[in-house]
Amino acid sequence: MSIKENYKAIQDQLPSGVQLVAVSKTHPVSAIQEVYDLGQRIFGENKVQELMEKQPLLPSDIQWHLIGHLQTNKVKYIAPFVDTIQSVDSQKLLSEINKEAGKHNRIIKVLLQVKIAAEETKFGLEISEAKDLFQQYIEGSFPNIEITGLMGMATFTEDEQQVRKEFLILKSLFDELNELKTLDTLSMGMSDDFPLAIESGANSVRVGSAIFGRRDYSKQNF
Ligand SMILES: *Cc1c(COP(=O)(O)O)cnc(C)c1O
Repeated sequence: MSIKENYKAIQDQLPSGVQLVAVSKTHPVSAIQEVYDLGQRIFGENKVQELMEKQPLLPSDIQWHLIGHLQTNKVKYIAPFVDTIQSVDSQKLLSEINKEAGKHNRIIKVLLQVKIAAEETKFGLEISEAKDLFQQYIEGSFPNIEITGLMGMATFTEDEQQVRKEFLILKSLFDELNELKTLDTLSMGMSDDFPLAIESGANSVRVGSAIFGRRDYSKQNF
C-alpha cells in the first residue's frame, strides 16, 4: 500500500479523540511532506540530530514530538522549536528542559516516560520516581514545563495478555496522577499494538511503520 493508503487506513482505525503521532524516524522529508499534505501535523522523531536536520526543511506548523532517549547536553538544540518531549526519564533531564525552555521564554510540554515492560529496558522512570517527579512539578519546581501526560512502551511480545496488563498499569498511574492535576495525554501503542493500547485507555498513539513502511537503517539521507 502507498503511504496515502496506509495513513487513511490508520485514521479509519482511530476513534475520535485519539491523537496520532506519525513516527517519521529514518524516513525522508519527502515522505513526511506527503503525510503533512494529507493533513497530519504531529510527527515524532527519536534522534536529536535527525530532528534538527529535518525540521528546517518542513512546514513550520508541524508539532514535533521527541520520542527517543534524550541526553541532557542535547536539550538545547531542540528547545527552540520542539512541541513535546515524550521521553522524560530523569529529574536531571526535566530540570535541563525547564532551564532551556526558560531561555527561550517557552513552556515545553513533556510526558513522563514510565517503565512498564517486563523485559529489561534501559529507559523510563519507575512508577515511584514518576510520582515523585510529578509531585515536585505540582509544587512548582519546573515553571517552564507542562507535564501533559505519560508515555510507555509495552514488552515486545505476541502475548496480548502481557501487553494489555502493562498498558493497564500505566493507565492506572495516569488516573491516579490525573486526580492531583489534570493530564491530557496517555501515549501508548505503536504500529503493532495501538488497537490494544486504545482499548486500554491510550488517547495518543505513536505509529511509524504502519504509515511509512519498514525502516531501512542502512540508507539514511533525509
Ligand atoms: C519507533 C518508535 C515508535 C513507532 O514504531 P512503529 O512500530 O514503527 O510504529 C513508537 N514509539 C517509539 C518510542 C519509537 O521509538
